[in-house]
Amino acid sequence: MKAPVKPGEIISLSIEGVSHQGWGVGRFLGFTVFVPGALPGETVEAEVSLIKKNYASGLLKKVLSEAAGRVVPRCEVFDRCGGCQLQHAEYSFQLEMKRKTVQDALSRIARMPEVPVHPVLGMEEPWGYRNRVQFHVSYSGKSLRLGFFETGTHQVVQGAGCHLVPEIFNRMAYFLEKELSRHLELGQSDGNQRPLKHVVFKTSRSTGETAVIFVTGAASVSGLDQVAYSLVQAFPGVVSVMQNINTSAAPRIFGSQWRLLAGQETITDKIGDLVFSVSPPSFVQINPVQVEVLYRKVLEYAELKGTETVIDIYCGIGTISLFLARQASRVYGVEEVEAAVDDAKKNAALNDIKNCEFQAGKAEEVLPRLLQEGICPDVAVVDPPRKGCAPEVLDAITKMKPSRIIYVSCDPGTLARDLRVLNEKGYSIKEVQPVDMFAQTVHVETVVMMSRVEK
Ligand code: SAH
Repeated sequence: MKAPVKPGEIISLSIEGVSHQGWGVGRFLGFTVFVPGALPGETVEAEVSLIKKNYASGLLKKVLSEAAGRVVPRCEVFDRCGGCQLQHAEYSFQLEMKRKTVQDALSRIARMPEVPVHPVLGMEEPWGYRNRVQFHVSYSGKSLRLGFFETGTHQVVQGAGCHLVPEIFNRMAYFLEKELSRHLELGQSDGNQRPLKHVVFKTSRSTGETAVIFVTGAASVSGLDQVAYSLVQAFPGVVSVMQNINTSAAPRIFGSQWRLLAGQETITDKIGDLVFSVSPPSFVQINPVQVEVLYRKVLEYAELKGTETVIDIYCGIGTISLFLARQASRVYGVEEVEAAVDDAKKNAALNDIKNCEFQAGKAEEVLPRLLQEGICPDVAVVDPPRKGCAPEVLDAITKMKPSRIIYVSCDPGTLARDLRVLNEKGYSIKEVQPVDMFAQTVHVETVVMMSRVEK
């Protein structure tokens, strides 16, 4: 279809949905138009800014009729910062938008419009929840700033006032901006050799233990030891300060080399009554309040009686495995990152859990091997990264014939794609439960329970 609009043209349109970036989506004479800042249910006036083959984008000029859920964003840089996307919508409205996103993906991609999606399980206090944040570093002359990138740019907006992180992160960012500017040599701060590229903060809400990771572009950065020392002096909760060396230009945040600058390497966290030791490169779920809600759903959907064998694929530091282990006979965990598998083993021991076995390797390689070895789980849990499960993984799981598959997903699009495959291979969807792990942002987490159709 030829675009019925020209750049610069002012159009009015009704917003029907929300894109995966959190932008309002509407149609103008049948042509798709994205309008950042507009909400579903609104009629808006937009200035056409960009035209592509199948869609156009417009700048929001005026809201002609407001959605009932529109609110004033709490953060003053919300318009520019890429950290969150939905602060202009009331929380209950955000949750309903997310439910529709999942429902939409099931209709369009999985072609299962009839499957109901439960209302999203949300937070009581949807602010300050993040236990981890990765701030970018930007330089200007002899000083530097920590913060999120401005949407679509590599310019840092702000770090020292984010509403999604705990207070201590904002205070540390503010402290470090001054200390780093004072102690680091910021002469040549271009390209990948930039002395400091990112700063990662991690904390445990339950133990208060906090870790700081400086990701640097070179092995030796003079002044960094001094900054690490003053950081632990100023913040008693900081038990670990590490340097990660990443000289590559690839978007991956961590390089392979680590160096301890102060304190110890790991922090201790708790989920429910389980204790976890977390080493710096390992993944942990970002919302410590909602992670319990999420894992309880997984446990509920697993319907364990104590005799089952469970496989937990993409298991990270073994959190779901250990959460299920006490109600199962045996649990196998599979994870690519070796440090995470080491953590998982340590965590099993820490909690005196003896019926878990963890395997390091890519799921697409480990699973076919376990299948060959004759491992037949009753329940399979998968919790893949955004790109979803590799076809080999889905294939091996269905050949193992578990009676239930529990799919935990952070991307409704790849979730729907994989559910369709699992459905074709003999599994039907029983429950679809989104859990809000990322309030104020457009991200959606979903737990799905599927069961095997006996032929
Ligand atoms: N279930 C865990 C981790 C989920 S995040 C939790 O709830 O905390 C996804 C995990 O998959 C990460 O730990 C990542 O390292 C791992 N991963 C990514 N690709 C993988 C692959 N191809 N094979 C196995 N694990 C992989």
